Amino acid sequence: MLHANGSLLTVDVGDRTAETTAIDDELEAFIGGRGVSTKLAHDRIPFDADPLGPENRLYLASGPLQQSSMSFTGRMNMTGVSPLTGSLLSSNAGGYLSRNFVGTGHSVVEIAGESDELIAVHVSDEGVEFEAVPELEGATVPEVTEEMNDRYGFESENLVTIGPAGENEVRFAAPMTYDERAFGRGGLGAVLGSKNVKCLTFEGDSAPDVEFPNEDIQMDVHRQAATSDDIFRRQGTTHLVQVLNDNFSLPTRYFSELSFEHAEKINGDRVEEKKYKKAACSVCAFACKLPTRDEESGLETEGPEFETVMAFGSNSAVDDIVEIMKSNELCDDLGMDTISCGNTIAAYLASEDEFGNVELIHELIEKIAHREGVGDKLAEGIDRIHEDLGVENWTVKGMDFAAHDGRVVHGQGLSYAVGTRGADHMFSTLMIPEYNDVIPAEGTAGKSEFLIDHENRNAVRDSAVLCQFGLGRVIEEEVFEALFDEDYEDILAVGNRIVNLERHFANQRGVDSEDDRLPYDLPDLESSIQEYYAARGWTDDGVVPGDLAADAAQAD
Ligand code: SF4
Repeated sequence: MLHANGSLLTVDVGDRTAETTAIDDELEAFIGGRGVSTKLAHDRIPFDADPLGPENRLYLASGPLQQSSMSFTGRMNMTGVSPLTGSLLSSNAGGYLSRNFVGTGHSVVEIAGESDELIAVHVSDEGVEFEAVPELEGATVPEVTEEMNDRYGFESENLVTIGPAGENEVRFAAPMTYDERAFGRGGLGAVLGSKNVKCLTFEGDSAPDVEFPNEDIQMDVHRQAATSDDIFRRQGTTHLVQVLNDNFSLPTRYFSELSFEHAEKINGDRVEEKKYKKAACSVCAFACKLPTRDEESGLETEGPEFETVMAFGSNSAVDDIVEIMKSNELCDDLGMDTISCGNTIAAYLASEDEFGNVELIHELIEKIAHREGVGDKLAEGIDRIHEDLGVENWTVKGMDFAAHDGRVVHGQGLSYAVGTRGADHMFSTLMIPEYNDVIPAEGTAGKSEFLIDHENRNAVRDSAVLCQFGLGRVIEEEVFEALFDEDYEDILAVGNRIVNLERHFANQRGVDSEDDRLPYDLPDLESSIQEYYAARGWTDDGVVPGDLAADAAQAD
């Protein structure tokens, strides 16, 4: 099966050492990206590690396709124990980092330990250098880029950087690359901050060889990406704002309503009006990114994407797309996940009856990043502060809800309940077949097998590391088989082992069926959860049995 090549580079930022290890067996068994990172994290991070302590480790990994010229491959994976969910979490970001990363000759870079001062870590094909950067304390993401450019000629595409939010261990701080692309969910920026690592740089010309079994299919995918007339190419994900609003499934006013009366003021058409050029990730001809500019104020940002429009728009009752652009830009500069930051602020607005107060929202974004005043409390995320605020707890396993509402697309709701990443949409994406009537949106009964296939496929997607926007459009089952030179069932079996390892790690940290809960009821939810456990081979308590975990962890 297709898999990444290249070594594991372990960088201990505490004792400032670097060590290279061959991981050929792990790469063959887990492909790369999320898969190989999960395997390494499962083996190397103590089950009781504090997410913000030196025992936690971060894994930055490419997959095999980052050495191809195929669209939908300009992405990188990051994995570690999340300070938001407390479990292993993988997140991926686009941009142009991936090609510079593979040039170092490594397929995985592991960051271990904890530095006693703020540092930059420079990784190249010639080795690793550590640089004390106390002068960058509190610097925003673009400020770090500018400084690294002045000093060494690095561009934003060489960098992974945290802003003040990461340094201050905000639980939804995001490592950023290319200035505006986030390893968004789960707070891995706080993990880098806890290690006192302000930025990582990558450069080199030593990409290891990867043998591609079927290059024709790559060209075919690339051609289809370039010629597609998909609305995503004009409006990114934002066209969904109006679609979901029209179908009464757009979270509004901190999830208390499902449609926003001013949706047409913040929908995809409004974003497209502000778009001033095309943009993409490495080698991607689909080019769905959204550089936007408000001519009147001069404000420029990238996006907002759909989820950001939900969190800082409808969920906060803001009806001005420029104000949402500003929230988006502030989060990017300060290094925070826009979904969690927006939802947490929406929770505060609900508690204070201040929906729609954009000055307050922008002030809160700054305060959260710097942990000033009430921002210190909000930086902990909704799960930890909802009682204090006196609002409902719109989270699962510590993760606040994505915009695709499980009260409307019930299979997606089931996936929020059982997923290790909690109420986030990217590990299952079951909402897509539910929106498209491939399966009915109503009900959870009989959906477990379908959900498991989606979860397993997406685990492989993140191991390859492929962009979600290629799936279901261009990269269908047969394309997977051709790309990987493997039967689809055997491809899904790799994903199954990855999901089992993630859940096993979570089990060791105390997660079980008690945590597979939603803040709302769905038809047949209890029996569907049991059906899901049985289909996965887990116990009635949602625990991965030891023999299944041992089998999943096999690397040869
Ligand atoms: S489809 Fe969009 S997000 Fe995905 S790799 Fe291409 S440009 Fe990046």
